[in-house]
Order: sequence, then C-alpha cells, then structure tokens
Amino acid sequence: MDGSKTPVAAPVLILLGPPGAGKGTQARMLEETHGLVQLSTGDLLRAAVAAGTEAGQRAKAVMEAGDLVSDEIVVAILRDRLADADCAQGVILDGFPRTTVQAQALDALLQANGQRINAAISLEVDDAAMVDRISGRYNCGGCGEGYHDTFKPTAKPGVCDHCGGTEMRRRADDNAETVAQRLAAYHAQTAPLIDYYAGQGALSRIPAMGAIDQIAVALDNVVTEATA
Ligand code: AMP
Repeated sequence: MDGSKTPVAAPVLILLGPPGAGKGTQARMLEETHGLVQLSTGDLLRAAVAAGTEAGQRAKAVMEAGDLVSDEIVVAILRDRLADADCAQGVILDGFPRTTVQAQALDALLQANGQRINAAISLEVDDAAMVDRISGRYNCGGCGEGYHDTFKPTAKPGVCDHCGGTEMRRRADDNAETVAQRLAAYHAQTAPLIDYYAGQGALSRIPAMGAIDQIAVALDNVVTEATA
C-alpha cells in the first residue's frame, strides 16, 4: 500500500429520447437536485452558431434542416466542454450521443479518464405527441429556463418564474417541418443506442408521457441508485 487514494470517478449520466421527450427540462432539474452539470450538445452548437465559429458555420444549415451535425464536429465540441473544471462534479448528457460513432467516442473518452457511464436513461414517449410538445415551447433568454404554452406556462405572462427575465425565445428549428425531420433522424440514428446501452447493462427506461414532476421523481430514483 502506498497510501494514495483512488479518486472517486464523477458520475456520467445520459438522457436518451426523441426531441420533445423532456431531456432538457429534466436535465436542468437534475443539475439542481444532484449537483450535476447539464451538457447539451444542442446548446453548445447553438452557441457556436451564434458566435460564428468555424464549427458553428458548418453546423448552421444542418441544424436548420433538422439533420444531425457531423460526428467529428459534435465529438470535438463535447470533448472540449468535458475538459472544463466544472464537469469534474459529474455530468448529465442531454442530446449526446446521438449516433453509435458518438457513443463509441464517448466510451473511449471516459475510459481514458478512468470514468464510466453510470446510467443511460431512455425517456419513453409517444412520437405523435412530440410535435405539439415542441411547437409550444420557449425559453427564458436570461437564465435558459424552459416553458411551454400549454404544459408549463410562466405564472405571469412573459415573465420568467425563475429569474424574472422578460426576454423569451423560441428556437428556429422548433417548427412542424423541421420537427418531423428531427424525429426521423432520431429513429434512424439515435434509437439504436437504446440497444447499445442495454448491451452494456447501463440502460433504464422511464415512461415520460406524464406530468413533469412525476417524471422527475422516477428519474431521481434512477439517478440516486446509479450514482450511489
Ligand atoms: P437539440 O437541442 O438537442 O434538440 O439539438 C438541436 C440540433 O442540434 C439537432 O437537431 C442537431 O441538428 C444538432 N445536434 C445536437 N446534438 C447533436 C449530436 N449529438 N449529434 C449531431 N447533431 C446534434
């Protein structure tokens, strides 16, 4: 024995599910309840587009069409973000991986850091309901809190419950045509990851058509067990 301690690996959780399943909403709740950092490749890509970086310029049209941005760009963006100091407390991946190539790249990245995936959690929803869910959603431009015209309106119209901000934003790709393509991309390229993680013994499934708070309770139980 040399007295050195084995560092406790920070938890890594993955939320799987089609656009509109509630990954972002639930990931934000887990940030608060479990001290995890939400890593959304969609948010990182939108920031790259807004900043006009080379990756952002290459990703913009692909995102507007509802297709998947190349594995090369997305893996590079995620790798950089994972190296930030705050990620050492544990992460919840929202919208990544979305292809088998990305899942394999993540496995390799984590292995190199002595980490592993604690759980990949599939939010199980009915596709038909996703267009309505997505078409009504918007975010606070100040703090990012997500809302929905029908399912989660602000208490006071136009004012964020969380930070009091009044600038609300709707995503350019949250329209019916693009959503159809995003759902098709999910089924063709991302849904196979459910079997991928089942094969690793890391998969949990959560019915996610109910109320946000009920789904949060089910998710909390899975995350508590997976990070114990
Ligand atoms: P999201 O905010 O997760 O719905 O992502 C918005 C868009 O960003 C998607 O429709 C894709 O065009 C792109 N995107 C986000 N994450 C990924 C990823 N892991 N792989 C490929 N494209 C992605």
